[in-house]
Amino acid sequence: MSRTTDGLIIAIDGPVGAGKSTAARLLAKRLGYRYIDSGAMYRALSWKALRAGLDLDDEQSLRRLADETSIVIEPAGDRELILVDGQEVSRQIREREVEQATSKISTHPSVRSVMVTHQRHMAAQGGVVMDGRDIGTVVFPDADLKFYLTARVEVRTKRRYLETQAAGATRKMDELAEEITLRDARDMGRRASPLRKADEAVTIDTSDLPVSQVVDAMEEEIRRKTAASKGST
Ligand code: C5P
Repeated sequence: MSRTTDGLIIAIDGPVGAGKSTAARLLAKRLGYRYIDSGAMYRALSWKALRAGLDLDDEQSLRRLADETSIVIEPAGDRELILVDGQEVSRQIREREVEQATSKISTHPSVRSVMVTHQRHMAAQGGVVMDGRDIGTVVFPDADLKFYLTARVEVRTKRRYLETQAAGATRKMDELAEEITLRDARDMGRRASPLRKADEAVTIDTSDLPVSQVVDAMEEEIRRKTAASKGST
């Protein structure tokens, strides 16, 4: 491992509804680390692209937009605030239209490259838990710890259902299941940085586990790895 135990980089990837952000947020809290939600960054850019009326297939314009947009993630109690050019858009970026646009704009390699540079910069000091689709494979191929979270599709659909309900929307389960399947297929099937498990990633199936146990398992893995790396120096 390249860093001290105070400044590890922990990468978490996985499909929609695998429980990444809840686990990542809690893990970061337990470790006293910063949580960075890379999906929120892609969502933030999509929100701005939609507002600007950009064509979601126009890679050049989207890349230019990514270059000139400030995206800031600010810790705020148990959550994070997402700021685009200083404007708080934490709620807006969770809307359905933005979500669907996000899975389209994130297929563009040059847009991804701007985001990856930004993500690496944000984690330069270490002490970070970052979740997304390409964190262990592309953003931090040398991450100290990599996790791949997954869950059965019916469990992921139920989680999304409860999330949307909590946000005040009424959505049908079968509609949500369809959206999840489509988004996963796009994320896994795209040419640029498709979602896949990094070779060294530890897989955790969260289907039947409360989040506290998911995070216990992660902490145990971190302890095991850091002890092993101390033993080998
Ligand atoms: O994680 P979240 O569901 O908020 O991500 C929204 C979308 O952003 C994903 O479906 C994916 O298309 C894209 N994304 C990505 N790479 C990441 C994080 C998110 O392509 N590292």
